[in-house]
This record gives sequence, C-alpha cells and structure tokens, in this order.
Amino acid sequence: MTELPVRVRFAPSPTGRMHLGSARTALYNYLLARKTGGQFILRIEDTDQKRFVPGAEQELIDGLHWLGINYDEGPDIGGPYGPYRQTDRWQIYQDHAKQLVETGKAFPCFCTMERLEKVRQEQQQRKELTHYDGHCRDIDPQVAAQRIASGEKHVIRFRMPKEGATTAIDQMRGPITIENRMLDDSVLVKSDGWPTYHLAAMVDDHLMKITHVFRGSEWLGTFPLHVNIIRAFGWEEPTWMHLSVFLKPSGKGKMSKRESAEALKDGHSIFVMDMKELGFTPEGLLNWTALMGWGAGETEDVLTLTEMIEKFDVRRLTASPAAINFSKLDYFNGEHIRRMTHEDLASRLKPYFLNAGLVVDDATLLKIIPLIRERLVTLDDCLPFATWFFKDHVEPNPVDLVAKNLDARQSCDVARKILDVLAPLPNISHAEAEPPMRQLIEELALSPNQVFGILRVAVTGQMVSPPLFESMEIVGKQKVIERLTRAIQLLEALS
Ligand code: GLU
Repeated sequence: MTELPVRVRFAPSPTGRMHLGSARTALYNYLLARKTGGQFILRIEDTDQKRFVPGAEQELIDGLHWLGINYDEGPDIGGPYGPYRQTDRWQIYQDHAKQLVETGKAFPCFCTMERLEKVRQEQQQRKELTHYDGHCRDIDPQVAAQRIASGEKHVIRFRMPKEGATTAIDQMRGPITIENRMLDDSVLVKSDGWPTYHLAAMVDDHLMKITHVFRGSEWLGTFPLHVNIIRAFGWEEPTWMHLSVFLKPSGKGKMSKRESAEALKDGHSIFVMDMKELGFTPEGLLNWTALMGWGAGETEDVLTLTEMIEKFDVRRLTASPAAINFSKLDYFNGEHIRRMTHEDLASRLKPYFLNAGLVVDDATLLKIIPLIRERLVTLDDCLPFATWFFKDHVEPNPVDLVAKNLDARQSCDVARKILDVLAPLPNISHAEAEPPMRQLIEELALSPNQVFGILRVAVTGQMVSPPLFESMEIVGKQKVIERLTRAIQLLEALS
C-alpha cells in the first residue's frame, strides 16, 4: 500500500455516544495520515434527521481532543474542502443526484410505502430476494420530470446494472465479487430530499479528495453498491479497508446494553468519555484500542502515539473480530501511568483530589507521586491511597486501631510507646524514625505488622496506605504526633 501522503477521514454520525470502535477507526485513519505526512479530516454525517442526537457531535469532538487525535480539517476548524458537516452540503448532493438521473444512472421512484410493502411481502412468500421490483425504472424521463414538477412525492434510486458482476477490493480482505442481480436499486435521496449515506459519503469522499477509506465492517454489505455509485460517476475509487468488529469479552457477539452496564460496575465502559471519567488515560486507552486488530507480535507492547505512528502498517491489520479485554486496558493504563513524569502525573491527579473537596498543595502532591505511582491502575485510584495526605485530621475507625492478637488496652499501650519513641525525634524522617521503631518492636516482642499496623491506621486513618515512613515524612512530625495522640484517645475509649 502507498507511502504517499494520504487524505483520510473519520466520518461519524452524531447518533449516539462515542464508542471504542469509533475511536479505533479514527485512530487508524489518523495514524496513516501522520505516518505518510497526509491529512486527517473530520466529517460529520448528520443527514439522518431521525437518528440525530443533540450533543453527540460535541462528544465526538471532545473525545478526539481528549485522545489527542487531532484533525487537520473539520466542522469546527474549517479547511479547503468544506463544509465538513453534511447538513451544510444539501445542494451538493442535489446536484450530484441530478447528474446521475440525467445520465440514466439513477431514477426517480414514485412508489408509495404501501406498494413497496406489498411487493416485499409477495417476494417473501415466493422466497425471492426482497428487492425493489423496478416499477419506476423505465418511466419516461420527461413524464417523471413533470410528475416531480407537479410536486409528487418521490425518492431517487440508483439504477443497479442487472447484468454482470461487481468486484470490489478491500485491501485487508481481498477482492469481493457479487453478481449484480443480487444487488438492489438502493435509495440515494429520500423523499424529504436528504441523501442517504450511500450517496452523501461517496460524493464527499470524492470532493474531499479522500484517498483511503477505513471504516467499520458493517459497511461490507453495501460495499458493492458504493463502488457502483463511484463508477457511475466515473470517479477514481479510494483504497478501501473495512475494520474488524469488537466483540464482548467472551468473544461471542457484540456488547449488549446489559453487558455494558456490567462493565461499568467493574469500572470499565465501551464509551470513550466514560473512560475519561473512570480514570483511564488517553495514552492507555489508545494503546489498548490500537492493538485490538493490529495483528500478531505486538499485542502487549506499550506504545506512545508517536511510536504507534512509526510502527503503524496497514498490511498487518487483521480482519478477524477482536474480543474486548478490559484487563489488558488496566495493564496498558498502569504502564502509561508509570512512564509519566512526576509533574505530568501530578497534574493529572490533582483534579481528582480537588473534586473530592480537598485543598491540594502542589509540593506535597509531587512528593507523594513516587509513593503511589506503582499502585495506580486508573488515575482515580489515587483517592483511596492518598486523600488522607491532604486532610487536616483523619478519623480512623477505632476497631481498626486494634492490632491482630492484641486487645484494645494492649494496642493502646503500644500506641503510647510509639508516641514515646517518635515524640522526642527532631524529625520523623524515614532515616531517623525507622531504627528506633524497629528497636521498639524487638523490645515489645511483637511483630512489625502489629506495631506498624497501629501506627499506620493512626496516621493515615486507613488499613492500606503507601509506604509508612515515607508517608510520615511527607505529612510531618506535627500531624503524626497529633494523630497518634488522637488514636490513643480512641483506643482508651475502647478499652
Ligand atoms: N457515518 C458513518 C457511520 O458513522 C460513517 C461510515 C464511514 O466511515 O464511511 O457509520
């Protein structure tokens, strides 16, 4: 396949939320554009008024921005081949439909829905293909023009050749040949005057000088129709590629609504902007999505967007469906978190703390990054580990202060002894505090788990925390002493 600069497009319909499959289609187009020094275009395909969802276009744009899949031309930034929103291109489709009618490649059809339904039922009874029966194919063009002029409701249908066969070539799947008698006279312009995808997308791809079309494999069925439309205009075809579908984790069928709800309970989603909310990074999500369908060899590779551009090779993409594996997403997300600079990670975690109502000072945040980084799968995992750093007071559950195999009174005695050890130290740094604490453990003939457990719960308010001595060093002696004193009170009350 070409290494020349390509012109590719992502052409979503604003009919719902932005799905992982859309993100991957956009990404593959983007990677090829960047690899070849070409252009990547965003086109909004919004001619289907019935399926239009307000806000969906914005979610698509937000999703692309968040992922860092930047487009060179698009509805909000313009470009030399605009407009890039199909509802702003109505006249263009009218003109092209007219051109096909005038050259006999398309025809007006006046059949009513009732008639079409009757024909369909009869065909079904006869076990025939349910196709348009050609009723209006041969109406005299002048008569048809008069009927249109008098306001008669009609659609425009493509005049599919009845003889011969159509061969359409998909770069990944090879040639697909189908006999033309199996193909229908599909509607190009609906009775409300709006074009269908079949006309609008082919016209736009041509006028926008698109060289490569990567799109979902749901378009394989109408692929022969599309190449026929392009050939009817006498245009050059783009290079086609129909990407594999995503299957649910079991590999059987697509994700249903119910399974998506289940995934959400487990902290995952099939919608891009949910993933942002759930604490996934664009880097992790892109890496994971890219490698679903990427082909063998690199399915575990942690890649940045720049590395993906370098490595991207359309010849290696696979047509076989890819089962969604959320645990791999966790892996990639964690790996990307571990590769971020302290400053970058701090700036991404800060909003989570702020949203939790905490006052965050940047110096403290930077200090805790090395302590929590290894444990983060998603960005919001910082909350259970680290909110306590930013609180003035913590309020442990008193029973958590009671060490294993000790009762409340004994635990209280241990807490007092810890206080005796720590209070005289000039600083509670790791180097200064650990040796006397180890000595205390020996003197008391207790286990480190018992003693450190009491100290951990006292200082952090929780049973699980980042490394204790480093954490105490960050919150500082004053808070450690205050919290230990409070823990002693709580244990006294329990005894
Ligand atoms: N609007 C179509 C869709 O959202 C685009 C398909 C294409 O990429 O051509 O499925």
